[in-house]
Amino acid sequence: MKGLIDPDRSGRGFFHLGLLLISLPITAVTVLAALALKMDTVFTLGAALLPFILLQTGALLTASGTIAGHSLVQMSYGTLKLLQKPLRIPLHVPERMVVLLNNKRVLSSAGGMYAADRTLVLLPHCLQDHTCSHRLTFEPDSCERCGKCPIGDLLDIRDRYGVHFSISTGGTSARRTVKDLKPELIVAVACPVDLSLGILDVHPITTIGILNEWRHGACFDTWVDTAEVDKVLKNLLQ
Ligand code: SF4
Repeated sequence: MKGLIDPDRSGRGFFHLGLLLISLPITAVTVLAALALKMDTVFTLGAALLPFILLQTGALLTASGTIAGHSLVQMSYGTLKLLQKPLRIPLHVPERMVVLLNNKRVLSSAGGMYAADRTLVLLPHCLQDHTCSHRLTFEPDSCERCGKCPIGDLLDIRDRYGVHFSISTGGTSARRTVKDLKPELIVAVACPVDLSLGILDVHPITTIGILNEWRHGACFDTWVDTAEVDKVLKNLLQ
């Protein structure tokens, strides 16, 4: 599952960076308070280092999959988004970081745990070929599996595993599907922005995020490696 777990090695580095940036103002306030109260140097130094040590230890445990660290991921993501422009952090790096850490934790701890009838494969409508006239959001089975887009192969996978299957038109319809179905496991395909927000949003439901490929630009005739979806289901289902 290497491709899924580690699509971007720098993701972990940015996770640590986000938490480092949070610890800086906390440290500054602590030092100022200690100076104002005329604390001794050793105490001031210890107090100043404590937020850094705690957050970085939490980051290490999260990145290794030892703890879920959902709040830490959220904190780091929020900070990186806030400082993305001034620090010139490349596009979608914070989003990819969320997906990377989430997938690593789920795949390293949850093999063979989920029932097919409590599993939802959630897809974006941009996977459908733009020339196709079938209305799949309401009736996925109207797809003729012609091979022009990945939907046909994904329906084959649905039939093979017996999982739920939904094509959403956006965040609101995806949230509605999740609310109605109440799945235990979601295998979601989407762009980095939708995936990261979805993963943070549906917590604590277990989610695996698979990034779609932009062969023709964003949100238009996108693609997904269906073998990757198959591999995830094979790994996680009972
Ligand atoms: S595979 Fe299905 S959804 Fe895709 S173009 Fe063919 S009929 Fe349409």
